[in-house]
Amino acid sequence: MARARDPIADLRRIAFLLERANEATYRVRAFRSAAKALAGMSAAELTERADNGTLTELAGVGDVTARCVAESLAGEEPVYLRRLVATEGSDLDAEATALRAALRGDCHTHSDWSDGGSPIEEMALAAVELGHEYMVLTDHSPRLTVARGLTADRLRRQLDHVAQVNAALPEGFRILTGIEVDILADGSLDQDDDLLERLDVVVGSVHSGLKDERSKMTRRMLKAVANPHLDILGHVTGRMVSSRPAGVTGPGDKGHRARTRAESDFDADAVFAACAEHDTAVEINSRPERQDPPKRLIRRALEAGCRFAIDTDAHAPGQLDWQRFGCERAALCGVPADRVINTWSADQLVAWTHSRP
Ligand SMILES: [Zn+2]
Ligand SMILES: [Zn+2]
Repeated sequence: MARARDPIADLRRIAFLLERANEATYRVRAFRSAAKALAGMSAAELTERADNGTLTELAGVGDVTARCVAESLAGEEPVYLRRLVATEGSDLDAEATALRAALRGDCHTHSDWSDGGSPIEEMALAAVELGHEYMVLTDHSPRLTVARGLTADRLRRQLDHVAQVNAALPEGFRILTGIEVDILADGSLDQDDDLLERLDVVVGSVHSGLKDERSKMTRRMLKAVANPHLDILGHVTGRMVSSRPAGVTGPGDKGHRARTRAESDFDADAVFAACAEHDTAVEINSRPERQDPPKRLIRRALEAGCRFAIDTDAHAPGQLDWQRFGCERAALCGVPADRVINTWSADQLVAWTHSRP
């Protein structure tokens, strides 16, 4: 007799692979909901329900997910999973692969505390499964109300919660505290200084006034980059090269899809020179719809002597594996691993963020 597989693990794996492949959120959710609905059930009860065809009577379990469960219980790899595995992924060239292998964590991720789709625990478990040593949790700041940005109070509560989650996570992995703080119109940062001081990593991004004229935008960015709390300059140009992943909404987007956005206009050489001077890292944002900064600007930041962070800006667990897209672009531009701050260990990273002038 074939040995039974773990149907819940298969459902979760399918959800992860669908998400990584940027498939529609409702499809991902179908598998996660089914996994959740069946999580507490004994193998005997699952088998009985599969045999009687009564799995679909449970809320959250449909025909497709029920078939996967039945196949798992019979010891077979579900057909749905097998097809996904057979058709997934793209080949990275050697340099991009080496860069990806050198990354030990991710410095830009979101949870359902702001506009992400999953709880912190779920994001962290996916990061563990990817082999990361850390994940910086960077939910949005107060003024980004469309993304449920965290007030100072909610952020303080999140810090307590992260401490609890960390205590329960496997050894060798930890969630680092952080924020994706809005760079406000005058270049100041949208959170209390004492909190920014307390966080492990601060990513700062422009989410509003993206069409501001060049000198205004340059001033705004220069002021932010010079702020000692800012560690990483997020999605530098704000561009959108393609539609957002289906079902994933985000700042300034309000659920609309199929929308592209031009790069904002600023003096990139001045901004990168300031990043180099103040030792602020330039983010290489891996999201397929952002691909920010564009390659020509990655090359200029490299020439300016900047450090980089190759991050996913993941809003869901499967998106944590998008780092390979950022690595591909970084490798094409010749970014060496020793200029990338998330090739460091968590301790090295935090020592750097806390030592910066
Ligand atoms: Zn952002
Ligand atoms: Zn973000």
